[in-house]
Amino acid sequence: MKTNLLNFDLNGLTQYFAQMGEKPFRAKQVMRWIHQSGASDFDEMTDLAKSLRAKLNENAVVEVPKLMTAQESSDGTRKWLLDVGTGNGVETVFIPESERGTLCISSQIGCALECTFCSTGRQGFNRNLTAAEIIGQLWWANKALGVTPKNERIISNVVMMGMGEPLANFDNVVTALNIMLDDHGYGLSRRRVTVSTSGMIPQMDRLKEVMPVALAVSLHASNDAVRDQIVPLNKKYPLKELMAACRRYLEKAPRDFVTFEYVMLDGVNDQAQHARELIQLVRDVPCKFNLIPFNSFPNSGYNRSTNANIQVFRDILQQAGFVVTVRKTRGDDIDAACGQLAGQVKDKTRRQQKWQQVMLEQRG
Ligand code: SAH
Ligand code: SF4
Repeated sequence: MKTNLLNFDLNGLTQYFAQMGEKPFRAKQVMRWIHQSGASDFDEMTDLAKSLRAKLNENAVVEVPKLMTAQESSDGTRKWLLDVGTGNGVETVFIPESERGTLCISSQIGCALECTFCSTGRQGFNRNLTAAEIIGQLWWANKALGVTPKNERIISNVVMMGMGEPLANFDNVVTALNIMLDDHGYGLSRRRVTVSTSGMIPQMDRLKEVMPVALAVSLHASNDAVRDQIVPLNKKYPLKELMAACRRYLEKAPRDFVTFEYVMLDGVNDQAQHARELIQLVRDVPCKFNLIPFNSFPNSGYNRSTNANIQVFRDILQQAGFVVTVRKTRGDDIDAACGQLAGQVKDKTRRQQKWQQVMLEQRG
């Protein structure tokens, strides 16, 4: 089987070329061809000797996941569905901002963590994406979007907030992050690449050592009783420990705050008393809040908080001195909003049957 060079960061490519008896600078050249010029055919790489190209053609490929669909929303949000084999698909979303914009990428096919308000979680889990499938999302989007007239890449920020829990696919995510940050790759700064986690503490500690990028933590509750219900991982890693892990992360983080994401679920976690409790919970952690109005999906069983409740909640946090943003819903018309990414997951966990059962019991 041929080796897929899209799976390698600079280190991996250097090793690959070394075992072929080639010089390390070949790795940098090939990396620039793949990630900066969007090349996937060795014959396009005209500054490689013909003999080397022939050798590569024989032993290696640059295999990018196939594009299944590309959609554009009326607000400019774009969404791509990529074929990751055996009937599975993953989604990538680009959210344009005034000058450039943010790409939201997926790390797994489905997710095993079962947060109750998340469409990906409800889909079940199939497998981790390979490094090639993760970076392949940026490769495609970059190719589709190109550069500004000033020759800056349109994609200025990347957030790992698509399908899946990035820290549950640690090694492949770190390889992909390496390629994003590499000057021979996409040259993004650590501050502009964000990993979002539901709170996998040991992996947060590892990430801090090997690849301290910006961190977002999906908090979603102000106490363990509520969080246990909606983010089941909380039973393993409760809030007090999570707060301590956030503080440790900040010792090495490229930004001096953690972003806490907080999905606004009507009547579940959105009351004034929750906001006040939240202030106490995070008092030792430098942070910002990102309130996400719940995005509905069929049979979710939840409602989005009212605008009035969201405003009261935001005001309480702001009056306590926190920076708070309320996430605007983008790309609603193409189901590209947060938590709506469903892709195509061939579930291996029987999760969907389980949820159907729960729904039937609730109705009956
Ligand atoms: N697994 C990671 C990253 C992917 S989810 C994590 O949980 O952090 C990105 C964000 O969208 C998370 O904060 C997640 O909790 C939130 N989210 C999930 N489902 C949602 C929904 N239906 N409405 C709004 N936000 C949602
Ligand atoms: Fe997985 Fe994140 Fe969805 Fe939870 S919110 S099920 S961790 S993708």
